[in-house]
Amino acid sequence: NQKAIIIGSGIAGLAAAIRLSVKGYKVQVFESNSYPGGKLSEMQIGGYRFDAGPSLFTLPEQVEELFLLAGRKPADHFQYSKLDVACHYFWEDGKSIKAYGDLHQFAEEVETKLGEPAENVKKALKNSAYIYEHLAPLFMHRSLHQWNTWINPTALKSYLKMGKLGIFTTMNDANERLFNQPKMVQLFNRYATYNGSNPYQTPATLNIIPHLEFNIGAFFPKKGMHDITQSLYKLAVDLGVVFHFNSKVEEILVEKNIAKGVLVNNTKIHADLIINNMDMVNAYKSILKNQKQPTKLLDQPKSSSALILYWGIKRFFPELGLHNILFSEDYKTEFDHIFNKGSIYHDPTVYVNITSVCKEDDAPNGCMNWFTMINVSNNQGQNWDKLIEEARSSIIAKINRVLNTDIEPLIEVEEILEPRTIESKTSSANGALYGNSSNNRYAAFLRHANYSSEIKNLYFCGGSVHPGGGIPLCLLSAKIMSEMIEG
Ligand code: FAD
Repeated sequence: NQKAIIIGSGIAGLAAAIRLSVKGYKVQVFESNSYPGGKLSEMQIGGYRFDAGPSLFTLPEQVEELFLLAGRKPADHFQYSKLDVACHYFWEDGKSIKAYGDLHQFAEEVETKLGEPAENVKKALKNSAYIYEHLAPLFMHRSLHQWNTWINPTALKSYLKMGKLGIFTTMNDANERLFNQPKMVQLFNRYATYNGSNPYQTPATLNIIPHLEFNIGAFFPKKGMHDITQSLYKLAVDLGVVFHFNSKVEEILVEKNIAKGVLVNNTKIHADLIINNMDMVNAYKSILKNQKQPTKLLDQPKSSSALILYWGIKRFFPELGLHNILFSEDYKTEFDHIFNKGSIYHDPTVYVNITSVCKEDDAPNGCMNWFTMINVSNNQGQNWDKLIEEARSSIIAKINRVLNTDIEPLIEVEEILEPRTIESKTSSANGALYGNSSNNRYAAFLRHANYSSEIKNLYFCGGSVHPGGGIPLCLLSAKIMSEMIEG
């Protein structure tokens, strides 16, 4: 059997391990942490369990496909359900709406509670479906770095429709045209944050994202988000993949422009293929530091980062669901702080994810596990200790105003994750959540390819390379990569 080495056991590294194993490769994974999953891991604080990173799950068939590929029945290993309500939205003026999974119910809710004609919501989601239909086959499912992607009828159809697909306007401008009510513009602008971008800069093409959440659906794994990587890890082990934890790769060994193996724990380990799942920017700075640097790609602006307060809350809030958004009163200024000022706005949009709503044993009886998050700038060496202290007060004040409560005395346990620790735990450049940002219309073309054009037998997968960050795209990166490999 040919041998493959995978550097990193993030979701894309796990998917790559499964795909190559199914192709007949003998696969070893080297992971610097003591656990698999990278950003998609979990933590236990007192009686509370938290999913550490991703909380929103779309396109579950990408996960199921890996079980099917390995000849397993997905439901025997990984279970999930569709959410009836994708998100609960709250504003300071007392207005709140539920984003129902059923499109008609959602459109009706918006018309009744916010005065936005139901027709506009349906039109917006139809537009979203249109973008998905034309761009997903090209930008999500294929390499952009191979000629055959561009010379085929699907690609040609898409070029002709670029204007209609929103490439020449910003997401905010498109949403202002679609909706009458500023609250709806804000709600649909928020989708830019799903890949760490700024709705006032990113092209309206990113209006593709609501299609996933509304037209296809938002889901929750029965055992929590962590089960996505846990179940894939178990599948990989079952297929014979060998994992080495606490094993940081120090260098990718290259001879005459051919990847030959890795240096780990001072030992050289040889393989026929090397697949890098480590963040591409930090990989070129460390394990590929002696190789030619793709400077232009490395210097692209990064996506936003996050400040997360994991709180055990000793009270039950019946008005809250799995996903909750408490919107800022001034969204534009908030994004200006994230992307231009590098500071934190005093009235941030607060996201509260509470898995104990769906999975009761994640919190003690009568309590809730709050994953309380705001989007913040990626790490540019700011004084984070000061920023976090101020932001914590702003977050608490915001929650108190919107939910008419006094949250601080209810916080039983607390842990914090922020740009510096996101980088130190998973090695993502500047603590960015999704690799490069998509704040300009060329961003899709300025991600690293899924292979090295300089070094033979070296491939890439994960959120910092094509097609981008987030669980579904990371899984697709592993698929695109493995389709390039014979077997
Ligand atoms: P990563 O998870 O980045 O893992 C890379 C792995 O490589 C790590 O385990 C690291 O330890 C290992 N590694 C690095 N260097 C080395 C080395 N030298 N040797 C060995 N191992 C190494 N996505 C969504 O779809 N929905 C969400 O709701 C969502 N929310 C998010 C919230 C937060 C707080 C964060 C942090 C991310 C969120 N994301 C979300 C993004 C999503 O988590 C990522 O896009 C995805 O998990 C990245 O996976 P990856 O395969 O690129 O690897």
